[in-house]
Amino acid sequence: MYNLFLIVGIHKKESLNLVKNTTSYALHFSDSSEVSLPEKIIIMRIETELKLDYKDVLFRPKRSVLQSREEVDLTRKFTFKNSQQVWEGVPIMASNMDTVGTVEMAKALAQHKIITCLHKFYPIDLLLPLFETTAAEFTAVSCGIKDDDINYLAKVHAAIPKFKFICLDVANGYTQRFASVVAKLRDIYPDKVIIAGNVVTGEMVEELILRGADIVKVGIGSGSVCTTRIQTGVGYPQLSAVIECSDAAHGVGGQIIADGGCVVPGDVAKAFGGGADFVMLGGMLAGHEQSDGELQTINGEQYKVFYGMSSETAMNKYYGEVAGYRSSEGKTVSVKYRGDVNNTIKSILGGIRSTCTYIGARTLKDVSKCTTFIRVSQQSNEVFGKNS
Ligand code: 5GP
Repeated sequence: MYNLFLIVGIHKKESLNLVKNTTSYALHFSDSSEVSLPEKIIIMRIETELKLDYKDVLFRPKRSVLQSREEVDLTRKFTFKNSQQVWEGVPIMASNMDTVGTVEMAKALAQHKIITCLHKFYPIDLLLPLFETTAAEFTAVSCGIKDDDINYLAKVHAAIPKFKFICLDVANGYTQRFASVVAKLRDIYPDKVIIAGNVVTGEMVEELILRGADIVKVGIGSGSVCTTRIQTGVGYPQLSAVIECSDAAHGVGGQIIADGGCVVPGDVAKAFGGGADFVMLGGMLAGHEQSDGELQTINGEQYKVFYGMSSETAMNKYYGEVAGYRSSEGKTVSVKYRGDVNNTIKSILGGIRSTCTYIGARTLKDVSKCTTFIRVSQQSNEVFGKNS
């Protein structure tokens, strides 16, 4: 049953409900009157419940017995539903974007037990040395759903049979073909941890997990260099997507990744507070020594180029053109050079630890249980400039 606000051919200005009987539809008005409708009436469905982004909420602080941030444990241990693989680490991930999901990033982040999803364009010989190290436990191999992608994955598997994570990534995880590829990969790789996305609604999260995914990547249109919402009008506020999708995933024994939209360490904590099992970062890890992208000097300051994987820059780089039937859904920006990513990671982990002490969560797993969000109209005081 949906609240309807626009019904073609009906001139009654009030909220009303559509009820489907076995043979017809009827509109129920708030004054108890009722109008029967022909079977083929055109209706506009609008979900009116407010959906939220990270910036729309803050954590409510709570009394806590924790003495110090040092007491907080940010590691989690998962046994994944379909692969039955066990993994332990800090459940943050570098995005499989070619500027962020690099071998150098994987080496640095593995020291913190953080996962890097390598981008899907790596030649296999450049991957081999990485998987000889302990970083293998914290590295995912990425691919798409085209035949070439599946063949690439098979070649990686032949060369590096022990890799643990497959990150199956498409912009639109709602196609039937995507769900079929998830099922096919589960058959071929029964013991690999399959990450699949992106989607933003509970029913598709459930479908992907039931088809064989272990972890579903959640986020459409929330990324820092994403223009999907502009180009297509499609999207879902990220915090609400995380809250709804984590509930759906946990109901069927799976996990989710909150992918995209984190701008500051507090957003990463909010994603965990909303129920995310993992949080994936692109822009927050861009512009570092370990990131890829051309280094530029503008007005004496150093920058690194960062771009979306559906941007013109990425499509020209990997496919030689933007195919005639599609448009770019990503942008290209210059990010201030931020040096060693280890400093950024320390700041993010320090921020989350501090969140935990404010809300009384001794472990990362406890964060969502200890979370009460308050809706706000202003996240921080920016009188002296933007806080980042
Ligand atoms: P960020 O952490 O930068 O806000 O978001 C990173 C996420 O944005 C990525 O993990 C990916 O899901 C998404 N993304 C990356 N490139 C593009 C793009 O070109 N277009 C869109 N729509 N999303 C992108």
